[in-house]
Amino acid sequence: MEAAGNVTVRADDIGAVPSAADEDEAPYREMDQSIASSRNRVRADQLLRIAHAERRLEEDPENFGLCEKCEEPIPPKRLELLPFVRRCVDCQTAAESKSSKPVRKKVTDYHD
Ligand SMILES: [Zn+2]
Repeated sequence: MEAAGNVTVRADDIGAVPSAADEDEAPYREMDQSIASSRNRVRADQLLRIAHAERRLEEDPENFGLCEKCEEPIPPKRLELLPFVRRCVDCQTAAESKSSKPVRKKVTDYHD
């Protein structure tokens, strides 16, 4: 037994899964932790998008890989390079050229 004030975290404890219900959350929690420790916001944003894409693939495989604008299938090659992409090349290009004017950029711009 450990004395109070001398808490030792064992490797077993770190890898322990709290309950069966939380099993699916574990990878995301690990990802959250790596995001929290990262100072690179762009990379953190990308990791989040990938996590969301993975979750979407699990929950809604029918619609995964479809452009959210025109609902055309996104080419597999594009998904391979950008697994978190939500639009086909045409819609993405249109959205980018539309929002490329030098005005303030907000997070909400991603939802246009
Ligand atoms: Zn499209």
